[in-house]
Amino acid sequence: FAVVQIDTARELEDADFLLESYLNLARSNEKLCEFHKTISYCKTCLGLPGTRAGAQLGGQVSLSMGNAFLGLSLFQKALESFEKALRYAHNNDDAMLECRVCCSLGSFYAQVKDYEKALFFPCKAAELVSDYGKGWSLKYRAMSQYHMAVAYRLLGHLGSAMECCEESMKIALQHGDRPLQALCLLCFADIHRSRGDLETAFPRYDSAMSIMTEIGNRLGQVQVLLGVAKCWIARKALDKALDAIEKAQDLAEEVGNKLSQLKLHCLSESICRSKGLQRELRAHVVRFHECVEETELYCGLCGESIGERNSRLQALPCSHIFHLRCLQRNGTRSCPNCRRSSMKPGFV
Ligand SMILES: [Zn+2]
Ligand SMILES: [Zn+2]
Repeated sequence: FAVVQIDTARELEDADFLLESYLNLARSNEKLCEFHKTISYCKTCLGLPGTRAGAQLGGQVSLSMGNAFLGLSLFQKALESFEKALRYAHNNDDAMLECRVCCSLGSFYAQVKDYEKALFFPCKAAELVSDYGKGWSLKYRAMSQYHMAVAYRLLGHLGSAMECCEESMKIALQHGDRPLQALCLLCFADIHRSRGDLETAFPRYDSAMSIMTEIGNRLGQVQVLLGVAKCWIARKALDKALDAIEKAQDLAEEVGNKLSQLKLHCLSESICRSKGLQRELRAHVVRFHECVEETELYCGLCGESIGERNSRLQALPCSHIFHLRCLQRNGTRSCPNCRRSSMKPGFV
């Protein structure tokens, strides 16, 4: 559909319509985890001749681009795009856009393991919904509740996680929102796994998997398989775990998500160690370190990797990320990575 739209726009020589068509193309590729394509369509959008509508859509283009960079585990670029989108939202009083960016930032910080920020941003999104969202689609409320559920689970507040996830699922079911239903099922399964209730977790992973497959969310499938593998490891069924990991690794490589590849190598490592498979073990260790380097998740101050365990992080205006404790201890006035001046911390 989006392709037909572009042809029509070209014929009509309508710049706004053309921009919108490219944005639609970018978004549908984002849903299918075609992140490189998403980024290239977003760049096309940003390169089109400027119009008034163009300035309004700029924020949405940046958001989509940020989501795609996050899909590729390019964290600094993702953060840069989210900051841009947030600036657009503030300059244009666009609370809807701000709400969506906050949800994406929640997912960003959940991945780099600053769980306090992973909760803060979706809570902010929920606040925006209750302050301005009377006329908005309920999907904004559902989205913020889902991201809150994820953060609560990571923080170990399983009761709150359950409540938020149930609220989000209720709306997703009412609206027939399949992508969100799949995410909620995955979150339910993770909550049950965190409780040690594998019996309840497995069927939810199965249901999540079948919807993710149906809608083509391959990154979602990777996350489901990661959860399934962890369940099998808890049950000491290592061969079944390896099976799930292998499938997940293929999918993760296909979509180019480095963070999942890294997590999967880490799981394989522990399995190979307990099975005494030295050669395989070494291979996974090597690949693990390659992935760490490719994600560039290092704190430029202490040199340790970011995202190994829950710790508070701070981004500078250049979008480089550091441990909050390292920045406080060093009190730097310019970014240790790129030397750009950073008198005040960035607002994300
Ligand atoms: Zn550090
Ligand atoms: Zn920097």
